[in-house]
Order: sequence, then C-alpha cells, then structure tokens
Amino acid sequence: QKLTAAQIRETFISFFKRHGHTHVPSSSLVVADDPTLLFANSGMVQFKDVFLGREQRPYTRAVTAQKCLRVSGKHNDLEEVGPSPRHHTFFEMLGNFSFGDYFKAEAIRLAWKLLTEEFQLPVERLWFTVFAGDDEVPPDDEAAALWIAQGADPSRVLRFGRKDNFWVMGDTGPCGPCSEITIYIGDDLSQMRAEGVNSDDPNYVEIWNNVFMQYDRATMQPLPRPSVDTGMGLERMAMVMQGVHSTYDTDLFVSIINRIIAVRGSDEEHYQAHRSAYRAIADHSRAIAFLIADGVLPGNLGRPYVLRRILRRAAYQGRTIGFERPFLAEVITTVIDQMGEVYPELVNRRELILSAADQEERQFLRTLSGGLSRLNAVIEQVRTRGETVIPGTDAFVLKDTYGFPLDLTQKIAAEQGLTVDEAGYEAAMAEQRARSRAAAAGKRGGEADLWAELDLPASHFTGYERLSDRATVIGM
Ligand code: ATP
Ligand code: MG
Ligand code: MG
Ligand code: MG
Repeated sequence: QKLTAAQIRETFISFFKRHGHTHVPSSSLVVADDPTLLFANSGMVQFKDVFLGREQRPYTRAVTAQKCLRVSGKHNDLEEVGPSPRHHTFFEMLGNFSFGDYFKAEAIRLAWKLLTEEFQLPVERLWFTVFAGDDEVPPDDEAAALWIAQGADPSRVLRFGRKDNFWVMGDTGPCGPCSEITIYIGDDLSQMRAEGVNSDDPNYVEIWNNVFMQYDRATMQPLPRPSVDTGMGLERMAMVMQGVHSTYDTDLFVSIINRIIAVRGSDEEHYQAHRSAYRAIADHSRAIAFLIADGVLPGNLGRPYVLRRILRRAAYQGRTIGFERPFLAEVITTVIDQMGEVYPELVNRRELILSAADQEERQFLRTLSGGLSRLNAVIEQVRTRGETVIPGTDAFVLKDTYGFPLDLTQKIAAEQGLTVDEAGYEAAMAEQRARSRAAAAGKRGGEADLWAELDLPASHFTGYERLSDRATVIGM
C-alpha cells in the first residue's frame, strides 16, 4: 500500500480525529513566549503550558502535524543532514496528545491500531522499545506487557536506558518513560537482529516515539493526571510507506532534488556521486523557506543567525557541486510549489522568501571565493606544521572578513580531517568586541551605548512585525 506524504498526514490526523482528538494546527517554528527554545523541535512544544497545568484548553485530546526544526540546543541534527538517509533540519512531526485524559493502555492500543490496520505495516518487522529502569525509576514493564497484549512478539520488545527511553521536559515539570517503534526495512528478513534497533544501521528506522508523562521531575512522585505526547516523523513514515531507503527518495523530496539537478544542468549520475551535497541543499531549502515564512530573516544573532548559517551552508554546498551563480531561490520555488497547499504561509510570503534568500545568497557569494582561498591557505599552513587544528584566530578572520559562520569553517575543515580551536575562536571574538567598545567609548558616550546594545545576544523575536522592518534586518 503506497501512500503519498499527504495521504499519510491525512490518515494520521483523521484516525485520531475519529478517536476524539481535536485537530490543532501547527504552531509557528518560532515558539511564542518560550525563551528556553529557539525553534519548535517537536509537537509537544506548543502544548508545554497545557502539560504543566498552567493553561486550559477546551479539549483533552489533540492531534497535530507540527513544523519542527532541529538545528540548535538539545536536538541539533545539522551535521547529520546530507550524510544521513533520514535526518533533516526541518521536518514535520505527526503527534497525538492526551492532556490528563487517556494514558498508556489507550495510547498503545491506538498506536497499534494505526500502524497495523490503517498503515498496514508488517507486524513481523516492527520493534518496540521500553524503558529498562534504573536506580531512580522502575522499568516500564507495563508498556512492554501492553505491546505484547496487542500482538507484538515478546522477542521484539526491547529495553533501553535513559538516553533512548526516558523523557524529561527540563529540570522541573513532567517526565516519564517513552516507548518507540522501529521498523526493519532490510530486504532479507532473516537478517533482522535486535542489535540493529537504535544503531546506525540504515535498515532500522525509528518511526514513532510515545512519551508517557508520568512523574513530577522535582519529586519523582507519580502525577495525578498523567499525559501522553507522541511524535512520528512524516518523512520517515513516507519512506517506509513508499518502500524506499531514504527520506530523500520520497515524494516530499524527489521534486526538490530534481529541481536542483535541472537548475544545475547536471544528471542522476552527478547526483549519485555528490548525494550528500544535493540532499543538504534540498533539506536546507525547505528550512530556509519555512523560517522566512515564519518571520525570521537572516541576521547576526539568535534566530536570524541560525537562518544565515543554514543558508550559507547551502550556498557552500552548491559551490561544491559546481554552481557558480545564485541558485537557491530557484530551488526554493519548488519547495513553495510542493508544500504551499498544506502550508499557505509559504504562498502568502512567496515574494519575501525568494527575495530574502536570494539577497542573502548573493551577499555571501561576494566573499565565498575569497574565504575559501584563505581557508585553503590556512589548511596548507596547518598541514605543513604537521598539525590538525585550525587556529581560532584564523576561524575568526574567516567569520569577520568573509562571513564564514564557525560551523561552516568546521565543516570544511572536517572534510580535510581537521578541527578548529573553538576556544581560540571565542577568545578572538571577545577581544574584538572589547576593542570595538573601547574605540566607541573613546569617541562619544552615546555611541558606546549603541555598540553595547548591538552586541547584546538580543534577537528578541517579534514575529511578523519584524517583516515590516525587513530592510534593516536583511543583510545586517
Ligand atoms: P533519531 O534517533 O532518528 O535521531 P530521535 O530519537 O532523536 O530520532 P525523537 O526526538 O524521538 O527523535 O522524535 C520523534 C520522531 O521524530 C522520531 O521517531 C523520528 O520519526 C522523527 N525525527 C526525529 N528527528 C528527525 C530528523 N532530524 N529528521 C526527520 N525526522 C526526525
Ligand atoms: Mg535524534
Ligand atoms: Mg532515537
Ligand atoms: Mg526517539
């Protein structure tokens, strides 16, 4: 049963609607009023206050398809993107939520039903993980028993520790064990092994995480009204349902990759030879489009700087596959065409997305060649000295003069087997800040204050308001 991504999204949402869930739209990638988080990185983020009991909603069950970005903080998949067949910066997470309504038994019953009846996944390929328990928290025998009661083979219910199967919101708030579903997509079922689950083996795909918010983190006492939070990667599910071995081979990405090939004037063979770069460009094009649609524009601090870093990485990757002119806007056009129906903000902000991306790419292309020459010279010197670490001062010059974000310099260095002295980079940056302040203070009192203000890690996000002010933000 081959389903398109749109059909999968629809199947998930309508299934949970039929089971009493309210369909809540995705929140913006930019989470309102959450200073602890730059971007939504899972479906539960927009419900944080509901889980904490600080906010009431007119429903106790919800279903969403949430825009997520994992490029900062606790979840940062940026370096995975390209090499990994199934990690993205921007992706969609499908989720069902219970706010003190149903708990483990019903969550597992619904999950089983959706996977085996609606999506008709082969039960013999499914693996279920539960929390193994430790000094502080007992094992989640309950979840294991519930999967087995549904029909799971006991030998395919596995136990893992904190890293994989225990979820915490933060130092306080709810926490609890989670239970994940992994599917084996290898060609030869007789090769399927427990060791593959949670390993890097590409034949094992983690598709869904079910979190059982069961304890109060501060006291580790059971919560009076435990809750459920789940997250299924749409791209992962599309890869499974379409019988392909990478999310980039699903209908969500094929047209974007084909667009890159067309704009580049290359072919399938060139794509296969440089797959990682093409894939990163496709991924980053989606992230860029959705970030600008949600009101973020490239800049030097905070969220704007995250967008700038993603965009400059994409521009650099483009160069590695032979682009000598701006190309991102042409690729992003396809992203908008492809996703605009489900996410109308892309269509509504089409002109802004394309012009802001194009302007930022052009600006970076003016210094990219110079920066690469400089970096290559530095790499030469480091090698000649028989060393493997690029000095922080050089990385800083690359940022300051050529607009190379540190992570881009690190990426290029890594391709050559080198690393960057990060502490040295920070020190060089701090030194320059101090110099600018001193210089400004020497001139006039007022200007010193101005400098100080510009240096604040501010980027106080003001959502769409910022767009009216874009001339001053773009190309900052
Ligand atoms: P992985 O182990 O593959 O990195 P994860 O354990 O970090 O995934 P969770 O935090 O459990 O992921 O998120 C829930 C679901 O979201 C995952 O089961 C997966 O389907 C999907 N997902 C997570 N990270 C990504 C990503 N970078 N790109 C696409 N889908 C993702
Ligand atoms: Mg991960
Ligand atoms: Mg995982
Ligand atoms: Mg997981």
